[in-house]
Amino acid sequence: MNFTKLPQLVDMRGKLKSKGTYSKRTKTITHRVWHHSLTKKHLAGSEAGSFADYHVNTLGWPGVGYTFIIEEPKNVINTPNGKRARIVYAHDIDRRTYHVGNSNQFSLGICVAGDYRYDTMDDATIASIADLHSALVKDNIGKNDTSHNEMPDYSWKACCVYDYRKLIKWQGSTTPVTPSPAPDTYTIQEGDTLWSIAHKDGTGGMQVEDLIKANPGIDPVKLQIGQKINFGNAKEVIVQPDNDTKEETESSNSGDATVRSIQKTLNSRYKAGLVVDGIKGTKTKSALIKALQTELNKQFNKKLVVDGKWGAKTKAAVVTVEKGAKGNLTWILQAALYTEGFEPGFLDSDFGTSTEKALKKFQEKKGLFDDGKAGKETFEELFAA
Ligand SMILES: [Zn+2]
Repeated sequence: MNFTKLPQLVDMRGKLKSKGTYSKRTKTITHRVWHHSLTKKHLAGSEAGSFADYHVNTLGWPGVGYTFIIEEPKNVINTPNGKRARIVYAHDIDRRTYHVGNSNQFSLGICVAGDYRYDTMDDATIASIADLHSALVKDNIGKNDTSHNEMPDYSWKACCVYDYRKLIKWQGSTTPVTPSPAPDTYTIQEGDTLWSIAHKDGTGGMQVEDLIKANPGIDPVKLQIGQKINFGNAKEVIVQPDNDTKEETESSNSGDATVRSIQKTLNSRYKAGLVVDGIKGTKTKSALIKALQTELNKQFNKKLVVDGKWGAKTKAAVVTVEKGAKGNLTWILQAALYTEGFEPGFLDSDFGTSTEKALKKFQEKKGLFDDGKAGKETFEELFAA
C-alpha cells in the first residue's frame, strides 16, 4: 500500500474512542468523499480524537465516521518532502464508517479538520491532501473524488467547501497523478451523480455543464444505475477559454487605488468584466452583489440567481459575518464598506478590529444596531439601491 508509507500518516486504528466496531463493507470502494469538520481549525477540538469522542458519545456511532482525518494546523510533521499536516488513519479501509448515509458501503470518508467557510488552508494541509489522494489512486482505492454535498441526498450540506478538485491536483505533491484519457461512454454506478462522474479519475477536468450539453434531455437528479451517458462530446467541450488571460480594460491610474484593486479582484475572482477606472459606481456595486451571491451559493448551498441585484431572496440568504471570520465574504464586506466611505483598513479578507470599527461606524450612520456584526440588515444597507 502506498498510503501506509506516507511519512505524515499516523496509524491510530483501535486507538481512538470507540464503542464496538464498524462492520465490513459489502461493496468495493468507488468514491473518495471529501469533508471538512466545521470546527474552526485553531480551536481545541479540531482534531481526530475530539471527532471520535463526538461521533461515539453524542451520535452513538461505533467510532469516528471517517477513515482518514487530515489535521491542521496543530499537528504539522516535518517530513523529507517538507512540512505536512498529520494524517490520522482511523479505521481499516474495508470498514463501512458512517459519513454519507446510504452511500457508506462504497464511500471512503476523508475529513480535513477546519471550517473552510472561514478558515484558510495552509500549505502543509494542501500537501497532505495531494499526497493522500495520489497514494489512494495508486493503491486503486476508489475511482471518483466527490465532496460530501455532491453525493446523493446531500446537496443541502455545506461540506466540503474547499476546492478539493484543485487541491488533489496540487503539483507540489511528490507524486502527482497524471490522468489517463476518458472513455467515450460511461455507465452509471450506484451513488453516482453528474458531479461525481465529472470528477472521476481520468476525466481530465470535464465539467458538469459539459456532461449536460453532451447528454441532451438527461435529468441530473434522476440518474439510473446502468444508464449509459455520453462522454465523447463532453470531452470536446472541456477546453474553456481562460478568462484570466483576457486583458483588462484599464484607463491608466485613474480614480481611487483601492477601488481599482477591488475592481481587479472582482474581475479576476468573479469574472466581473469591470472597467478598472477606480471610480465607485453602480457597476462595481452590482459586481459586489454578484460576488456575494456567488459565495452564498458556493459556501452555503443557496440557490440564488447570480444577477447582481439586491432583493428579498439574497437578503434572506445572507449569513452573518463577524469578528474572526476570514475569507471571501469578509473581503466582500470590506470592499462594500470601503466603497461606502468607511475604511476598514487593509482589504485582507480577515475580519479584525479595524473592520469592526468601520462596520460599527457604518451601522451607527445608518441607524442600525451597531453590534459590529454584518447580518441581513447591514448587507441590505450596503447593497440595496
Ligand atoms: Zn461532510
